[in-house]
Amino acid sequence: MRSEPGDPVSAPAPGPAAEAGVRGVGAFHRHPGDGWAQCLQGHRHWGLHGAAGLLLARRAHGGSIDAVVLQHRALWSDQGGTWGFPGGALAPGESAEVGALREASEEAGIPAAAVRLRGSVLLDHGGWTYTTVLAETLMPFEPAATDTESLEVAWVLLDDVARLPLLPAFAEAWPRLRELLEADGFHGRTT
Ligand SMILES: [Zn+2]
Repeated sequence: MRSEPGDPVSAPAPGPAAEAGVRGVGAFHRHPGDGWAQCLQGHRHWGLHGAAGLLLARRAHGGSIDAVVLQHRALWSDQGGTWGFPGGALAPGESAEVGALREASEEAGIPAAAVRLRGSVLLDHGGWTYTTVLAETLMPFEPAATDTESLEVAWVLLDDVARLPLLPAFAEAWPRLRELLEADGFHGRTT
């Protein structure tokens, strides 16, 4: 993934629900990693300990990958109204994989038990990182918006992804991420 100024693939900003400190299902989840960080390239990014997101793909009847879970981001969030994938700030000491699965569960109702991790793509700006965790479903399920950061969460066919108004950092990264998802041999970490 190339480095560009601007915000990461998933960068929610605190909104009304966050300020109210609401907790529980349908609410904004907060933890000590939430906050803005400045990387060595001079950008402002969400996540004091970095951030991570889950790009989850499914296979059509055991064949090729045909869709990914995308999140239509709440209008109040940073670059609201765009589409990205579930993710957010890492908690202190939390691995990217654990953080991505936690965010996917909180925001999109994705059960960790339904997910097989494939690998990850690290974007390192120096002092701040974003890890895109690539995964596949182990069983069919319908994702759903499960907190106030999402207007909608849905399976989006691969060919339809670029037709949506995407979060700019995701739009830029998508061709490479799609290539990795469709490369059956890809497992592990890359940059
Ligand atoms: Zn940066």
